[in-house]
Amino acid sequence: MALYLLWLVTTALALAGAWGVLVYLRRREAYFQSVQAILRAPLEIDEFAGQAQTLCESCTQETGASGCSLYLQPGEQESGFRRAAQAGRPAEETGPGVVRDLLNQAWDTGQSVESNYGGRWLAAVPVWPGHLGGGALLVTWDSNRAPGKVERGLLEATATVASLLAPRFAREGALARAHEELQALHVEIAEESHLAGVGRLAAGVAHELNTPLGAVLTMVGSLSRTVQDPSSARRLQIMRDAVEKCKAIIEKLLVYSRGPIETERGLTFSRFVRASTDLNRTIESCVELMRENLSEAGISVSLDLGEIPEFRANTTQWSHVFNNLLVNARDALRSGGTADPRIQVRTRSDRERIQIEISDNGPGIPPEVLSHVFEPFFTTKDIGHGTGLGLAIVREVVRKHQGAIQVKSEPGAGATFVIQLPLQQDFESTPAARPEARA
Ligand code: ADP
Repeated sequence: MALYLLWLVTTALALAGAWGVLVYLRRREAYFQSVQAILRAPLEIDEFAGQAQTLCESCTQETGASGCSLYLQPGEQESGFRRAAQAGRPAEETGPGVVRDLLNQAWDTGQSVESNYGGRWLAAVPVWPGHLGGGALLVTWDSNRAPGKVERGLLEATATVASLLAPRFAREGALARAHEELQALHVEIAEESHLAGVGRLAAGVAHELNTPLGAVLTMVGSLSRTVQDPSSARRLQIMRDAVEKCKAIIEKLLVYSRGPIETERGLTFSRFVRASTDLNRTIESCVELMRENLSEAGISVSLDLGEIPEFRANTTQWSHVFNNLLVNARDALRSGGTADPRIQVRTRSDRERIQIEISDNGPGIPPEVLSHVFEPFFTTKDIGHGTGLGLAIVREVVRKHQGAIQVKSEPGAGATFVIQLPLQQDFESTPAARPEARA
């Protein structure tokens, strides 16, 4: 009887063992079949997202996990992990800090990391560590129990497959970036040619108007010398002011226009002359010129001017830039009813560039206006108050110095204009640059 019982127990144990092995093998086989299908798929870059998704789904299913995510490092320009695929419940439910720590640990050590947080078990397995497109696979179980040998084995296998997919992600990332850059370039070229057209038109109109306006001014001048009647003298003065205003607008158009302009005194490049310039001094003198006007409006100005190197620039053009930005900030603060109206100018520099920030705490720029502010002739100011050329000129001057300008603004939280200027300027590459370089 005892012998029979012993035989029964050992047979049962053997059968259970064989069953376990069979289940394990079948699970592995089913799993590897799905994985093989992924790997056999053609190396289509567009397929990456779908393949990664299938991998995460089968990993969740086979390991009995509540969720599985594949995180990858997008590239040299971006740091940190990006979630490339997700199945089941996301690991972030445990807390983003926890996820980041586990991913970093797996990435840095190249080893699997496991941890238990608030009733969930998390395991991070490195994927193609040390390479662009590499990352980690993060799997969560809704239990305090550590995953068994089978689950761990499947997880390692999934990470190996993900490592084979990762280079596709790197390629996809590089292609996507190249595509984005091309699109941005395309938009810029279209804008550039539009602006060049407007610039040529502006230069032509300015030139055509300058001569007759000059004649009107001369006539008004000679009439005012002969006229005795005070009322006529006052009218002539009004005419002179109006013509002067027109000439000032034309002067703005000339700054905006791209090429050399023919004036009464012949062809001139003078507005393009560049010399070694201290932009901090230019800012200080612009602020000084406007100080009285600003304090009359109750606006305080603070200057935080860091040490910046001398910059090859056209001082007149930069005076226009700072003046336009300060006038805009003043107008915004005047209109907005800000309790403590302030303008701040900040300059900084590193070895490669100079950064200039002009910010105000005015009403800010609404999103529907923000995308148009640099367009020539765009203004929200009343007739007679705005020409819509200020920021177009600013951007043009910044471009002529091979820099970039950005505006950041939230309605109700002021506006900040940020100018970045490269210290190494390539004069040959800008069409308007040759005469400047010569000067
Ligand atoms: P203008 O000053 O003649 O209107 P600009 O090109 O200088 O022309 O400015 C275009 C528009 O941008 C302004 O009409 C205004 O709506 C908006 N803007 C510019 N600077 C600011 C600022 N600091 N705060 C709020 N709005 C601004």
